[in-house]
Amino acid sequence: MAWDFETEPEYQEKLDWADEFVREEVEPLDLLWPHEQFAPLDETRRKIVEPLKNEVRRKGLWATHLGPDLGGQGHGQLELALLNEILGRSSWAPIVFGCQAPDTGNAEIIAHYGTPEQRERYLRPLLEGELFSSYSMTEPQAGADPTRFTTRAVRDGDGWVINGWKFFSSNAKTASFLIVMAVTNTEVSPYQGMSMFLVPTGTPGVNIVRDVGLYGDAPGQGSHALIHYEDVRVPHDALLGGEGQAFAVAQTRLGGGRIHHAMRTIGLANKALDMLCERALSRETQGSRLADKQFVQGYIADSYAQLVQFRLFVLYTAWEIDKYNDYKKVRKDIATAKIVMPTVLHDIAWRAMQVHGALGVTDEMPFFRMVHGAAVMGLADGPTEVHKVTVAKQVLREHAPTDDVWPTQWLPRKREAARAKFAEYLEHEVGNL
Ligand SMILES: Cc1cc2nc3c(=O)[nH]c(=O)nc-3n(C[C@H](O)[C@H](O)[C@H](O)COP(=O)(O)OP(=O)(O)OC[C@H]3O[C@@H](n4cnc5c(N)ncnc54)[C@H](O)[C@@H]3O)c2cc1C
Repeated sequence: MAWDFETEPEYQEKLDWADEFVREEVEPLDLLWPHEQFAPLDETRRKIVEPLKNEVRRKGLWATHLGPDLGGQGHGQLELALLNEILGRSSWAPIVFGCQAPDTGNAEIIAHYGTPEQRERYLRPLLEGELFSSYSMTEPQAGADPTRFTTRAVRDGDGWVINGWKFFSSNAKTASFLIVMAVTNTEVSPYQGMSMFLVPTGTPGVNIVRDVGLYGDAPGQGSHALIHYEDVRVPHDALLGGEGQAFAVAQTRLGGGRIHHAMRTIGLANKALDMLCERALSRETQGSRLADKQFVQGYIADSYAQLVQFRLFVLYTAWEIDKYNDYKKVRKDIATAKIVMPTVLHDIAWRAMQVHGALGVTDEMPFFRMVHGAAVMGLADGPTEVHKVTVAKQVLREHAPTDDVWPTQWLPRKREAARAKFAEYLEHEVGNL
């Protein structure tokens, strides 16, 4: 019997350390530089951030998503989940702990599919936290349906020339390189006809046309790039994972990325619940505390119930990933966590906002950012609807149709069968009456 909800004492000690470290040392960065996580460190920020990263390294918690061969500690996804739910409180914490999206996913695919040269050139500095990367897949005319992508890479001499448009390539403006998905063969199905390329951001023809901001970003501070790739020439060895492998590479990347978002979302939703409870206990109206009103008690109970279900499910999914070491086998549960995540964060943050009254909707409290974050979680790495389709298909695979007109659980027939099974006794019973 191996179901166990305990954390080993040595790792719990590290988690306790991380909890205090994030609250005391890292959360202040969110207040000083709310939009600068992916900007190269200037002199002031370097003086503060580098020592923090070094403390994390000393504690053995740097890049916990990676195995020891890649500079991580080999903690695995379950331990990462327990850490990530602490890091989720702060937008700077993943940077300080070397496990920020989208770089984690990008590192994972270079580790998995990269040649030794690609690993040395791109992966090593990425893992050191020396540079950032960007994933360039979505196009202006198509996001959720990659079969509609048109960005094209054509062989030319011993290299490739890329032409096309990409949209929402996060952090492209500060990234050192982009991972670009492009059509390389129009004769076969898109699933076999697309490839991934590693493209240094400074390559001639990589034109960032504009950086789109999310709601609440300061003007001019957008970080989701519309990019025009215009005759971008890359060598043959820019190909990542081989020709026609883009879908396989993308699945590897997005599987990990999605569950890491879910882990961090637990932390953020928990922060909202903490704030809800504090306010409920502190504010009085019409003769009693908010905490004594049944409506507010309902908010608290519903929030706790949603959060605890979500948390256990995410931890279970992380455990499954460690067990099978194959994202495909855990696809249904990763997609399910992705579906649930926006609703859990939205509902808890919304209730916490409501209980704070007018103050809750101001820019002096973080709730609207959280609610907006929930909307983002319903889109980034694929819209909720698409994940629901995935889950439904996977669930249906575990079931079979009946060719009878009546369902197999039709009660009259089942009752009849039950009577037939115990006919001998039932007749006896009737006989005794
Ligand atoms: C903050 C943020 C960061 C992002 N970062 C990146 C990045 O770094 N790199 C990158 O390449 N992309 C990135 N994206 C883009 C993201 O992957 C896409 O937004 C997503 O795949 C959806 O594509 P779309 O926006 O074109 O919407 P569409 O594909 O146009 O879909 C629009 C809506 O249509 C509905 N819909 C779509 N398909 C179906 C379906 N099969 N069934 C039912 N309804 C459906 C859904 O309601 C969906 O929201 C990011 C997005 C956000 C919000």
